[in-house]
Amino acid sequence: MGEVVGIGESTQVTFPAGDTAGRSRVLASVPLDGGYGVVVARTPFHPLDHTWPDQPGDIGVLRADGVEMRVVDCLTGAVPPGGGELLLGEEIPARRGDEGWAWLVVHEVERMVPEGNEAVLAVDEERRAGLSAGHTACHLMALALNAALAERWRKDVRADSLGRPDFDQLAIVSSRIVPGGSRDVYRIGKSLRKKGFVADGLEEELPEVAKAVNETLAGWVAADGPVQVVSPSPALTARRTWRCELPEGTGEIPCGGTHVQRTGALGPVAVRIEPEDGGFVVETYGAHSSIAPS
Ligand SMILES: [Zn+2]
Repeated sequence: MGEVVGIGESTQVTFPAGDTAGRSRVLASVPLDGGYGVVVARTPFHPLDHTWPDQPGDIGVLRADGVEMRVVDCLTGAVPPGGGELLLGEEIPARRGDEGWAWLVVHEVERMVPEGNEAVLAVDEERRAGLSAGHTACHLMALALNAALAERWRKDVRADSLGRPDFDQLAIVSSRIVPGGSRDVYRIGKSLRKKGFVADGLEEELPEVAKAVNETLAGWVAADGPVQVVSPSPALTARRTWRCELPEGTGEIPCGGTHVQRTGALGPVAVRIEPEDGGFVVETYGAHSSIAPS
């Protein structure tokens, strides 16, 4: 990627509060495969996270030096302690937020933008709105799933923010946010059983579990609870928390993504649960979903 000089600080981000537009100074513009990666001081663009790649990077438009360009993707970049080469996504050997690294939002565009220019940044709002809805629906599903499976634990394990055994956190393998929904893969292996999860007869019971989750989700959407992302600092890798007021209490989940402002904004949300490879897959879909209900 070439040397990147002068980037010692992590990018400041405004997407946790829901921003989709901003302007900022260009700090670097480095060649990427078939284009350039532009780094600015402060951005509304959400990048794909390299450690837990759940919500896709934003797309949109970047205007600088009199030229308007499409931002075709947005990635997480990192510069090692003491400076050096900009590493992207899977090339990064450190974990999200490790000390000493500069954590950067990299906007992928087709042309070089000279350093020092001011860039005007605009996120594709319609796509962002879909992903925010999908991400909120995904977190609500996780809490509703924990509730639906709570009776299947015969030992004490870590509880979620509503006091139920945190099946989601203990069994999740991957999560992919799509506009309006998500696809979450859960594995029920030996270690989960050892922790006290009773899997007997679960496969046959999955339609019942889905029904219970759907009832909970319908109640939570109807309650129209406020949703926010709580952020201790504007840095990209600050440990942010998704917080949602629900009839049962305050739901909280660590989260690096974007969300709607109220659960009522989701409209009807439902899940489909299918067994898969020693576990199951939950497809969550809502009004803006790109997962077509069957
Ligand atoms: Zn999240």
